Amino acid sequence: MKFRSILNDHSLVSFREALFRGIAPDGSLYVPEAIPTLPAGVKTSDATQSLPRVAAQVLSAYIEEISSEQIQKMADRAFSFPIPLVKLEDDLYLLELFHGPTLAFKDVGARFMAAALSYFLEQEQQELTIAVATSGDTGSAVAQGFVNVPHISVFVLYPSGKISTLQEQQITTVGGNIHAIEVEGTFDDCQHLVKTALADQELVRACNLTTANSINLGRLIPQITYYVWGLMELQRQTGRSPNQEIAADVCVPSGNFGNLTAAAYAKRMGVPIARLFSASNANVVVPEFFRTGSFRPRPSVQTFSNAMDVGNPSNFARLQALYEGNLDAMKSDIASTSVLDEETLVEMQRTYERSGYILDPHTAVGVAATRKLKPSHSSSRPTIVVGTAHPAKFPEVVEKALHITTPLPKQLQEALQRTKQSTRIPADYQRVKRLLLA
Ligand SMILES: *Cc1c(COP(=O)(O)O)cnc(C)c1O
Repeated sequence: MKFRSILNDHSLVSFREALFRGIAPDGSLYVPEAIPTLPAGVKTSDATQSLPRVAAQVLSAYIEEISSEQIQKMADRAFSFPIPLVKLEDDLYLLELFHGPTLAFKDVGARFMAAALSYFLEQEQQELTIAVATSGDTGSAVAQGFVNVPHISVFVLYPSGKISTLQEQQITTVGGNIHAIEVEGTFDDCQHLVKTALADQELVRACNLTTANSINLGRLIPQITYYVWGLMELQRQTGRSPNQEIAADVCVPSGNFGNLTAAAYAKRMGVPIARLFSASNANVVVPEFFRTGSFRPRPSVQTFSNAMDVGNPSNFARLQALYEGNLDAMKSDIASTSVLDEETLVEMQRTYERSGYILDPHTAVGVAATRKLKPSHSSSRPTIVVGTAHPAKFPEVVEKALHITTPLPKQLQEALQRTKQSTRIPADYQRVKRLLLA
Protein backbone atom coordinates (compact mmCIF):
# COMPACT_ATOMS: atom_id res chain seq x y z
CA MET A 1 0.00 0.00 0.00
CA LYS A 2 1.28 3.42 -0.98
CA PHE A 3 -0.10 6.88 -0.35
CA ARG A 4 -0.63 9.74 -2.74
CA SER A 5 -1.32 13.43 -2.43
CA ILE A 6 -4.87 14.48 -3.24
CA LEU A 7 -3.65 16.80 -6.01
CA ASN A 8 -1.21 14.41 -7.62
CA ASP A 9 -2.13 10.75 -7.97
CA HIS A 10 1.04 9.86 -9.84
CA SER A 11 3.65 10.38 -7.17
CA LEU A 12 3.27 7.63 -4.60
CA VAL A 13 5.00 7.71 -1.22
CA SER A 14 5.55 5.17 1.55
CA PHE A 15 3.75 5.36 4.87
CA ARG A 16 7.02 6.50 6.42
CA GLU A 17 7.25 9.45 4.08
CA ALA A 18 3.61 10.49 4.58
CA LEU A 19 4.09 10.18 8.35
CA PHE A 20 7.22 12.34 8.54
CA ARG A 21 6.07 14.92 6.00
CA GLY A 22 2.53 15.36 7.33
CA ILE A 23 1.54 17.43 4.32
CA ALA A 24 2.50 16.71 0.70
CA PRO A 25 4.98 19.03 -1.05
CA ASP A 26 2.11 20.29 -3.25
CA GLY A 27 0.32 21.48 -0.10
CA SER A 28 -2.50 18.90 -0.23
CA LEU A 29 -3.11 15.96 2.10
CA TYR A 30 -1.98 12.38 1.70
CA VAL A 31 -4.60 9.68 1.12
CA PRO A 32 -4.30 5.90 0.65
CA GLU A 33 -3.85 5.05 -3.04
CA ALA A 34 -6.76 2.60 -2.64
CA ILE A 35 -8.98 1.52 0.23
CA PRO A 36 -8.26 -2.11 1.18
CA THR A 37 -11.01 -4.56 2.00
CA LEU A 38 -11.46 -5.72 5.57
CA PRO A 39 -8.70 -8.25 6.39
CA ALA A 40 -9.89 -11.86 6.23
CA GLY A 41 -9.18 -12.29 9.94
CA VAL A 42 -11.58 -9.49 10.87
CA LYS A 43 -15.28 -10.21 10.57
CA THR A 44 -17.66 -7.92 12.39
CA SER A 45 -19.84 -10.97 13.01
CA ASP A 46 -16.95 -12.57 14.91
CA ALA A 47 -16.84 -10.78 18.22
CA THR A 48 -14.18 -12.85 19.91
CA GLN A 49 -11.09 -10.72 19.30
CA SER A 50 -9.55 -8.10 21.58
CA LEU A 51 -9.46 -4.43 20.62
CA PRO A 52 -5.65 -4.26 20.12
CA ARG A 53 -5.81 -7.40 17.97
CA VAL A 54 -8.52 -5.95 15.73
CA ALA A 55 -6.65 -2.63 15.55
CA ALA A 56 -3.40 -4.33 14.48
CA GLN A 57 -5.10 -6.14 11.61
CA VAL A 58 -6.81 -2.99 10.37
CA LEU A 59 -3.54 -1.04 10.59
CA SER A 60 -1.62 -3.78 8.77
CA ALA A 61 -4.06 -3.53 5.85
CA TYR A 62 -2.78 0.03 5.31
CA ILE A 63 0.79 -0.13 6.57
CA GLU A 64 2.55 -2.98 4.84
CA GLU A 65 6.08 -1.73 5.38
CA ILE A 66 6.04 -2.52 9.12
CA SER A 67 5.92 -6.14 10.23
CA SER A 68 2.72 -7.36 11.80
CA GLU A 69 4.54 -8.11 15.09
CA GLN A 70 5.72 -4.48 15.27
CA ILE A 71 2.27 -3.15 14.33
CA GLN A 72 0.79 -5.28 17.10
CA LYS A 73 3.16 -3.66 19.62
CA MET A 74 2.13 -0.20 18.47
CA ALA A 75 -1.56 -1.14 18.60
CA ASP A 76 -1.10 -2.50 22.13
CA ARG A 77 0.23 0.89 23.14
CA ALA A 78 -2.31 3.05 21.27
CA PHE A 79 -5.37 0.96 22.23
CA SER A 80 -4.53 0.34 25.88
CA PHE A 81 -7.91 1.50 27.23
CA PRO A 82 -11.42 0.15 26.64
CA ILE A 83 -13.85 1.46 23.99
CA PRO A 84 -17.26 0.43 25.35
CA LEU A 85 -20.50 0.47 23.38
CA VAL A 86 -23.27 1.71 25.68
CA LYS A 87 -26.96 1.29 24.97
CA LEU A 88 -28.76 4.58 25.45
CA GLU A 89 -32.23 3.76 24.15
CA ASP A 90 -33.78 1.16 21.87
CA ASP A 91 -31.70 1.18 18.70
CA LEU A 92 -29.49 4.02 19.93
CA TYR A 93 -25.95 3.26 21.09
CA LEU A 94 -22.94 5.34 22.11
CA LEU A 95 -19.41 4.24 21.33
CA GLU A 96 -17.37 5.80 24.13
CA LEU A 97 -14.07 6.89 22.61
CA PHE A 98 -13.05 8.94 25.64
CA HIS A 99 -11.43 6.56 28.10
CA GLY A 100 -7.86 7.53 27.21
CA PRO A 101 -5.57 9.78 29.25
CA THR A 102 -7.05 13.09 28.03
CA LEU A 103 -10.64 11.81 27.90
CA ALA A 104 -11.21 12.59 24.22
CA PHE A 105 -10.95 10.45 21.10
CA LYS A 106 -7.74 12.09 19.86
CA ASP A 107 -5.62 10.02 22.29
CA VAL A 108 -5.54 6.96 20.04
CA GLY A 109 -4.28 8.88 17.01
CA ALA A 110 -1.65 10.80 18.98
CA ARG A 111 -0.37 7.64 20.65
CA PHE A 112 -0.17 5.67 17.42
CA MET A 113 1.55 8.49 15.59
CA ALA A 114 4.13 8.69 18.39
CA ALA A 115 4.74 4.95 18.28
CA ALA A 116 5.13 4.91 14.49
CA LEU A 117 7.56 7.86 14.45
CA SER A 118 9.59 6.25 17.21
CA TYR A 119 9.74 2.95 15.34
CA PHE A 120 11.32 4.56 12.27
CA LEU A 121 13.64 6.77 14.34
CA GLU A 122 14.92 3.72 16.20
CA GLN A 123 15.67 1.94 12.93
CA GLU A 124 17.45 4.96 11.51
CA GLN A 125 19.16 5.91 14.79
CA GLN A 126 17.80 9.44 14.64
CA GLU A 127 16.32 11.90 17.09
CA LEU A 128 13.32 14.12 16.41
CA THR A 129 12.06 17.33 18.01
CA ILE A 130 8.40 18.21 17.84
CA ALA A 131 7.00 21.69 18.50
CA VAL A 132 3.26 22.25 18.82
CA ALA A 133 1.22 25.31 19.64
CA THR A 134 -1.99 24.65 21.49
CA SER A 135 -5.09 26.41 22.70
CA GLY A 136 -5.62 23.44 25.04
CA ASP A 137 -6.71 20.07 23.70
CA THR A 138 -4.14 19.26 21.03
CA GLY A 139 -1.33 20.01 23.46
CA SER A 140 -2.62 17.65 26.10
CA ALA A 141 -3.26 14.81 23.61
CA VAL A 142 0.24 15.23 22.14
CA ALA A 143 1.88 15.51 25.59
CA GLN A 144 0.13 12.36 26.80
CA GLY A 145 0.62 10.54 23.48
CA PHE A 146 4.36 11.18 23.25
CA VAL A 147 5.37 10.82 26.89
CA ASN A 148 8.34 8.47 27.34
CA VAL A 149 8.49 7.73 23.61
CA PRO A 150 12.16 7.13 22.77
CA HIS A 151 14.02 9.40 20.30
CA ILE A 152 11.46 12.22 20.47
CA SER A 153 11.45 15.47 22.45
CA VAL A 154 8.26 17.50 22.48
CA PHE A 155 7.86 21.23 23.14
CA VAL A 156 4.29 22.35 23.79
CA LEU A 157 3.76 26.11 23.57
CA TYR A 158 0.62 27.36 25.28
CA PRO A 159 -0.70 30.84 26.11
CA SER A 160 -0.22 31.65 29.79
CA GLY A 161 -3.49 32.04 31.68
CA LYS A 162 -5.60 31.28 28.60
CA ILE A 163 -6.19 27.54 28.88
CA SER A 164 -8.16 25.69 31.54
CA THR A 165 -6.43 24.50 34.72
CA LEU A 166 -7.15 20.93 33.72
CA GLN A 167 -5.58 21.34 30.30
CA GLU A 168 -2.57 23.14 31.77
CA GLN A 169 -2.02 20.38 34.32
CA GLN A 170 -2.15 17.75 31.59
CA ILE A 171 0.53 19.58 29.62
CA THR A 172 2.82 20.70 32.45
CA THR A 173 2.93 17.70 34.77
CA VAL A 174 4.13 15.04 32.35
CA GLY A 175 7.85 15.80 32.51
CA GLY A 176 10.54 13.64 30.91
CA ASN A 177 10.64 14.27 27.17
CA ILE A 178 7.66 16.65 27.27
CA HIS A 179 8.61 20.30 27.77
CA ALA A 180 5.87 22.81 28.53
CA ILE A 181 6.55 26.37 27.41
CA GLU A 182 4.23 28.91 28.92
CA VAL A 183 4.15 31.89 26.59
CA GLU A 184 3.19 35.33 27.85
CA GLY A 185 0.84 35.98 24.95
CA THR A 186 -2.05 34.55 22.98
CA PHE A 187 -2.59 31.29 21.12
CA ASP A 188 -1.80 33.17 17.89
CA ASP A 189 1.55 34.18 19.38
CA CYS A 190 2.29 30.52 20.16
CA GLN A 191 1.32 29.47 16.67
CA HIS A 192 3.47 32.21 15.18
CA LEU A 193 6.47 31.11 17.27
CA VAL A 194 6.09 27.50 16.08
CA LYS A 195 5.74 28.60 12.46
CA THR A 196 8.84 30.78 12.77
CA ALA A 197 10.77 27.86 14.24
CA LEU A 198 9.68 25.50 11.46
CA ALA A 199 10.80 28.06 8.85
CA ASP A 200 14.22 28.51 10.52
CA GLN A 201 16.33 26.08 8.48
CA GLU A 202 19.30 26.32 10.85
CA LEU A 203 17.10 25.25 13.76
CA VAL A 204 15.20 22.62 11.75
CA ARG A 205 18.50 20.96 10.80
CA ALA A 206 20.10 21.33 14.22
CA CYS A 207 17.33 19.54 16.09
CA ASN A 208 15.43 17.68 13.30
CA LEU A 209 12.35 19.75 14.00
CA THR A 210 8.79 18.98 12.89
CA THR A 211 5.25 19.33 14.21
CA ALA A 212 2.51 16.84 15.14
CA ASN A 213 -0.18 18.01 12.79
CA SER A 214 -3.74 16.83 13.27
CA ILE A 215 -4.04 16.08 9.54
CA ASN A 216 -1.21 13.52 9.70
CA LEU A 217 -2.19 10.12 8.26
CA GLY A 218 -0.55 8.53 11.31
CA ARG A 219 -3.39 9.96 13.37
CA LEU A 220 -6.19 9.18 10.91
CA ILE A 221 -5.59 5.52 10.04
CA PRO A 222 -5.82 4.10 13.59
CA GLN A 223 -9.25 5.76 13.97
CA ILE A 224 -10.70 3.40 11.33
CA THR A 225 -10.58 0.76 14.05
CA TYR A 226 -13.30 2.57 16.03
CA TYR A 227 -15.86 1.67 13.43
CA VAL A 228 -14.84 -1.95 12.99
CA TRP A 229 -14.87 -2.34 16.77
CA GLY A 230 -18.20 -0.52 17.20
CA LEU A 231 -19.99 -2.88 14.81
CA MET A 232 -18.34 -5.89 16.47
CA GLU A 233 -19.53 -4.74 19.88
CA LEU A 234 -23.04 -4.24 18.51
CA GLN A 235 -22.98 -7.78 17.20
CA ARG A 236 -21.78 -9.03 20.57
CA GLN A 237 -24.48 -7.19 22.50
CA THR A 238 -27.44 -7.85 20.28
CA GLY A 239 -26.40 -11.48 20.38
CA ARG A 240 -28.03 -12.84 17.26
CA SER A 241 -26.62 -15.83 15.49
CA PRO A 242 -22.88 -15.56 14.89
CA ASN A 243 -23.07 -15.57 11.11
CA GLN A 244 -25.72 -12.95 10.76
CA GLU A 245 -24.20 -9.54 10.28
CA ILE A 246 -26.01 -6.55 11.78
CA ALA A 247 -25.87 -3.28 9.90
CA ALA A 248 -26.06 0.07 11.67
CA ASP A 249 -26.05 3.76 10.91
CA VAL A 250 -23.14 5.65 12.43
CA CYS A 251 -23.15 9.29 13.53
CA VAL A 252 -19.90 11.26 13.91
CA PRO A 253 -19.80 14.70 15.60
CA SER A 254 -17.37 16.53 13.34
CA GLY A 255 -15.05 19.52 13.29
CA ASN A 256 -12.07 18.96 11.07
CA PHE A 257 -13.71 15.80 9.64
CA GLY A 258 -10.87 13.38 10.30
CA ASN A 259 -13.02 11.06 12.35
CA LEU A 260 -15.82 11.01 9.75
CA THR A 261 -13.23 10.28 7.05
CA ALA A 262 -12.04 7.31 9.10
CA ALA A 263 -15.66 6.11 9.32
CA ALA A 264 -16.09 6.46 5.55
CA TYR A 265 -12.89 4.43 5.00
CA ALA A 266 -14.30 1.74 7.30
CA LYS A 267 -17.55 1.64 5.34
CA ARG A 268 -15.63 1.37 2.06
CA MET A 269 -13.58 -1.50 3.54
CA GLY A 270 -16.79 -3.44 4.03
CA VAL A 271 -17.81 -2.70 7.61
CA PRO A 272 -21.63 -3.01 7.63
CA ILE A 273 -22.41 0.68 8.06
CA ALA A 274 -25.66 1.52 6.27
CA ARG A 275 -25.47 5.30 6.39
CA LEU A 276 -23.13 7.83 7.95
CA PHE A 277 -24.52 10.86 9.74
CA SER A 278 -22.29 13.88 9.78
CA ALA A 279 -23.11 16.18 12.72
CA SER A 280 -21.91 19.77 12.82
CA ASN A 281 -22.53 22.59 15.28
CA ALA A 282 -23.09 26.22 14.20
CA ASN A 283 -20.04 25.88 11.96
CA VAL A 284 -22.12 24.87 8.95
CA VAL A 285 -19.69 24.76 6.01
CA VAL A 286 -20.23 21.03 5.48
CA PRO A 287 -24.04 20.79 5.97
CA GLU A 288 -24.27 23.72 3.58
CA PHE A 289 -22.08 21.89 1.07
CA PHE A 290 -24.43 18.90 1.18
CA ARG A 291 -27.37 21.23 0.53
CA THR A 292 -25.90 23.47 -2.13
CA GLY A 293 -22.85 21.69 -3.54
CA SER A 294 -20.59 24.66 -2.85
CA PHE A 295 -17.84 24.58 -0.23
CA ARG A 296 -17.38 27.99 1.35
CA PRO A 297 -14.87 28.10 4.23
CA ARG A 298 -15.21 31.00 6.67
CA PRO A 299 -13.95 32.02 10.12
CA SER A 300 -15.15 29.68 12.85
CA VAL A 301 -17.84 30.66 15.34
CA GLN A 302 -17.57 29.75 19.01
CA THR A 303 -19.96 27.13 20.43
CA PHE A 304 -20.35 24.86 23.47
CA SER A 305 -18.82 22.04 21.42
CA ASN A 306 -15.62 24.00 20.89
CA ALA A 307 -13.45 21.16 19.56
CA MET A 308 -15.79 21.21 16.55
CA ASP A 309 -15.47 24.96 15.94
CA VAL A 310 -13.74 24.70 12.58
CA GLY A 311 -14.53 27.06 9.73
CA ASN A 312 -12.33 25.42 7.10
CA PRO A 313 -12.31 21.67 7.78
CA SER A 314 -9.14 20.38 6.16
CA ASN A 315 -9.97 16.67 6.14
CA PHE A 316 -13.06 17.30 4.05
CA ALA A 317 -10.76 17.22 1.00
CA ARG A 318 -10.02 13.60 1.89
CA LEU A 319 -13.73 12.75 1.92
CA GLN A 320 -14.23 14.42 -1.44
CA ALA A 321 -11.25 12.50 -2.82
CA LEU A 322 -12.80 9.24 -1.58
CA TYR A 323 -15.96 9.97 -3.60
CA GLU A 324 -13.94 11.40 -6.51
CA GLY A 325 -15.80 14.67 -6.16
CA ASN A 326 -19.16 13.02 -6.91
CA LEU A 327 -21.70 14.75 -4.65
CA ASP A 328 -24.50 12.29 -5.42
CA ALA A 329 -22.32 9.33 -4.47
CA MET A 330 -21.36 11.13 -1.29
CA LYS A 331 -24.98 11.87 -0.46
CA SER A 332 -26.00 8.28 -0.92
CA ASP A 333 -23.57 7.31 1.88
CA ILE A 334 -23.64 10.39 4.10
CA ALA A 335 -26.37 12.65 5.49
CA SER A 336 -25.39 15.90 7.16
CA THR A 337 -27.02 18.34 9.52
CA SER A 338 -26.20 21.01 12.09
CA VAL A 339 -27.20 21.42 15.72
CA LEU A 340 -27.09 24.82 17.46
CA ASP A 341 -26.06 25.47 21.08
CA GLU A 342 -29.65 25.76 22.30
CA GLU A 343 -30.53 22.36 20.77
CA THR A 344 -27.35 20.91 22.26
CA LEU A 345 -28.45 21.87 25.78
CA VAL A 346 -31.97 20.51 25.12
CA GLU A 347 -30.47 17.20 23.97
CA MET A 348 -28.26 16.97 27.07
CA GLN A 349 -31.42 17.46 29.16
CA ARG A 350 -33.55 15.03 27.16
CA THR A 351 -30.96 12.25 27.28
CA TYR A 352 -30.34 12.79 30.99
CA GLU A 353 -34.07 12.62 31.72
CA ARG A 354 -34.63 9.55 29.55
CA SER A 355 -31.64 7.45 30.53
CA GLY A 356 -29.67 9.22 33.25
CA TYR A 357 -26.71 9.50 30.90
CA ILE A 358 -24.61 12.69 30.93
CA LEU A 359 -23.61 13.65 27.39
CA ASP A 360 -20.71 16.00 26.75
CA PRO A 361 -21.69 18.84 24.38
CA HIS A 362 -19.91 17.29 21.35
CA THR A 363 -21.58 13.92 21.73
CA ALA A 364 -24.89 15.72 22.34
CA VAL A 365 -24.56 17.34 18.91
CA GLY A 366 -24.29 13.81 17.51
CA VAL A 367 -27.32 12.48 19.37
CA ALA A 368 -29.43 15.50 18.41
CA ALA A 369 -28.32 15.21 14.77
CA THR A 370 -29.30 11.53 14.77
CA ARG A 371 -32.81 12.38 15.97
CA LYS A 372 -33.11 14.99 13.21
CA LEU A 373 -31.81 12.77 10.45
CA LYS A 374 -33.61 9.67 11.59
CA PRO A 375 -37.01 10.13 13.22
CA SER A 376 -37.64 7.16 15.52
CA HIS A 377 -40.41 5.66 13.37
CA SER A 378 -38.26 5.62 10.23
CA SER A 379 -36.30 2.39 10.59
CA SER A 380 -35.52 -0.24 13.11
CA ARG A 381 -31.86 -0.20 12.19
CA PRO A 382 -29.68 0.71 15.18
CA THR A 383 -27.57 3.86 15.22
CA ILE A 384 -24.17 4.15 16.85
CA VAL A 385 -23.22 7.71 17.85
CA VAL A 386 -19.55 8.14 18.65
CA GLY A 387 -18.95 9.72 22.05
CA THR A 388 -15.97 11.98 21.41
CA ALA A 389 -15.32 13.41 24.89
CA HIS A 390 -16.03 12.75 28.56
CA PRO A 391 -18.59 15.19 30.07
CA ALA A 392 -16.25 15.99 32.99
CA LYS A 393 -14.09 17.94 30.52
CA PHE A 394 -16.91 20.46 30.10
CA PRO A 395 -18.18 21.15 33.63
CA GLU A 396 -19.60 24.62 32.77
CA VAL A 397 -21.82 23.31 29.97
CA VAL A 398 -22.96 20.31 32.01
CA GLU A 399 -23.79 22.63 34.91
CA LYS A 400 -25.69 24.96 32.59
CA ALA A 401 -27.72 22.18 30.98
CA LEU A 402 -28.33 19.85 33.92
CA HIS A 403 -27.53 21.87 37.06
CA ILE A 404 -25.27 19.10 38.30
CA THR A 405 -21.54 18.63 38.64
CA THR A 406 -19.84 15.67 37.00
CA PRO A 407 -17.33 13.76 39.11
CA LEU A 408 -13.78 13.93 37.76
CA PRO A 409 -12.46 10.62 36.42
CA LYS A 410 -9.24 9.42 38.03
CA GLN A 411 -7.01 10.49 35.09
CA LEU A 412 -8.03 14.11 35.68
CA GLN A 413 -7.86 13.94 39.48
CA GLU A 414 -4.30 12.63 39.25
CA ALA A 415 -3.28 15.33 36.80
CA LEU A 416 -4.66 18.01 39.13
CA GLN A 417 -2.56 16.75 42.04
CA ARG A 418 0.81 16.72 40.28
CA THR A 419 3.24 19.65 40.39
CA LYS A 420 3.31 22.00 37.44
CA GLN A 421 6.63 22.30 35.62
CA SER A 422 6.84 24.87 32.86
CA THR A 423 9.24 27.41 31.45
CA ARG A 424 7.64 30.81 31.28
CA ILE A 425 8.90 33.12 28.54
CA PRO A 426 7.83 36.28 26.74
CA ALA A 427 6.56 35.79 23.17
CA ASP A 428 10.09 36.15 21.83
CA TYR A 429 11.40 33.83 19.13
CA GLN A 430 15.05 33.93 20.28
CA ARG A 431 13.97 32.58 23.67
CA VAL A 432 12.12 29.69 22.00
CA LYS A 433 15.09 28.93 19.80
CA ARG A 434 17.46 28.78 22.77
CA LEU A 435 15.13 26.39 24.59
CA LEU A 436 14.84 24.08 21.60
CA LEU A 437 18.61 23.99 21.11
CA ALA A 438 19.40 23.46 24.79
C1 LIG B 1 -11.52 16.87 17.68
C2 LIG B 1 -12.85 16.63 18.27
C3 LIG B 1 -14.01 16.50 17.47
C4 LIG B 1 -13.99 16.63 15.98
O1 LIG B 1 -13.27 15.61 15.34
P1 LIG B 1 -12.77 15.78 13.84
O2 LIG B 1 -12.05 14.54 13.53
O3 LIG B 1 -11.88 17.00 13.85
O4 LIG B 1 -13.98 16.01 13.00
C5 LIG B 1 -15.21 16.21 18.10
N1 LIG B 1 -15.29 16.12 19.44
C6 LIG B 1 -14.21 16.26 20.24
C7 LIG B 1 -14.38 16.15 21.71
C8 LIG B 1 -12.96 16.52 19.69
O5 LIG B 1 -11.89 16.68 20.50
